[in-house]
Amino acid sequence: MLRFYDDSALAVAAHVLIEGPVSRADLARELGLSGATLTRLVRPLINGGLIDDGGIGVPQTGVGRPTQLLEIPPAEHHFVGINLTSTTVHAALTDARSQGLAGQATKLRSTDPHSVAEQIRETIATLVEQQQSGWQHLRGIGISLGGQVSGGVVEHSRFFGWDDVDLLSMVGPVRDLPVLLHNDLVALTMLEQWFGLGRTHPSFMVTSVGSGIGHGLVHHGRAVDPVFRGHGTTSHIPLAGAHGVCQYGHLGCANGALTTGAVLSRAGAGRSITVGDSRPHDLDDLVALARAGDLSCCNAIAEFSQNLATYVQTVCSAAMVVDAVLDGEAVPLLETPWASGFDEQLTRFHNPRLPALNVHRRSGSFERWARGAAATAIVHWLETQVDLQR
Ligand SMILES: [Zn+2]
Repeated sequence: MLRFYDDSALAVAAHVLIEGPVSRADLARELGLSGATLTRLVRPLINGGLIDDGGIGVPQTGVGRPTQLLEIPPAEHHFVGINLTSTTVHAALTDARSQGLAGQATKLRSTDPHSVAEQIRETIATLVEQQQSGWQHLRGIGISLGGQVSGGVVEHSRFFGWDDVDLLSMVGPVRDLPVLLHNDLVALTMLEQWFGLGRTHPSFMVTSVGSGIGHGLVHHGRAVDPVFRGHGTTSHIPLAGAHGVCQYGHLGCANGALTTGAVLSRAGAGRSITVGDSRPHDLDDLVALARAGDLSCCNAIAEFSQNLATYVQTVCSAAMVVDAVLDGEAVPLLETPWASGFDEQLTRFHNPRLPALNVHRRSGSFERWARGAAATAIVHWLETQVDLQR
C-alpha cells in the first residue's frame, strides 16, 4: 500500500526515509510493487544521491542471502522547526526522521509582526550555528502557529491579534532555503502521520487542548486536508454535561469547557467566593492549589477530564476512528488524581458493538510543536528531491 502518496516514486522515497535501512524485496512487498517497477523507481533516486544503497543486511523476513539495503541517511539532512505562541518562540533542530538534535525556547519580545519575523531569523541562526556542521546540512525551515494560514500569510490569529499578516515575506529569504508556514495543528498532525502513531496505525485523530482545542485527522495513512483550515471546526461543538461559556456565548461548547482560560476561570470562580487572590494563575498553579486541598481547583480538573473524554468520544465517533492522540499543554492534568473519571467517561456513550477507543497521551511539551513545524519542512524537502530526480 502506497500510504502517503498516489505517486509511487514519492511513496518509495517516503517509505525508505521512515523505515530504512530496508531491502528492495521488503520495500517491494510492503508497497505492493513488482521488483522491476521498484528498480525503475529507485534507480534515479540512488543516482541523484537521495537514497544510499551502500548498506548490507538481511531481509526483514530473515530468509535469504545478505542483501543491499536502501536508506536516506537521516543525519545528513537537518531541519529547523519554529512554533510560535503568543509568549514564546519554541525551536527545534531535527534530522530527516524528526529526531531532535537541539532545541530552545525564548520569550517572544513583542507580537508586532516585524519584531516576530526578526526574532524568527535570529532563532534560526542561533540554533544552526550552535551545531558543529553549521548550515552545511540544513535543508529547510518550517514555522507554525495557531490560526488560519494560507500561502505564507497569517489570515487571522486570535493568539497574536493578527489579520492578513504576510509573515513569510517579513521573515524573508534564509540562505536560499525553503521556508514554510503552517497552522500548528496541521503540522503536529503531520508529525504523528509520518513519524508517530501513523507508523503503526493508518487511521486516527490528533487532538490538542490548551489555549485552544481542535483536531486533525489521518485516514488510511493520509492526512485529511481541512476545508476550513485553521478554524478548529470542533472548537465549539456542544459537549454533553458541560457548562462553561465561550467567547461567542455558547453554553457547554468545547472551547468554553476545555481551554486553559475556561478551566482556570471555573476554578477561580469558586475560589473567589472566599479568597480574593485571583488564583489560579496558570495550570501549574491550578494543580498546586488542588494538591493543597482547594476543592474548586480539584473539581475544575475533574470536570475538565470528564469533558475532555466526552469531546474525544464525540469527535472519534464522527471521524470514524478509534485511536486518538492527545496533546497540548492541558494534557498533563490527566496525570493528576482528580482526573480519574477520564477513562470511565470515555466509555459513557460507547456502542458495545464497536471497538473501544484507544487514547495515546503525549507529553504536551512545546518541543513537539516545534518538531511538527520541522516535519513540514522534511516532507516538502522529500517531495522536492523526488521531483528533481525524475
Ligand atoms: Zn463556543
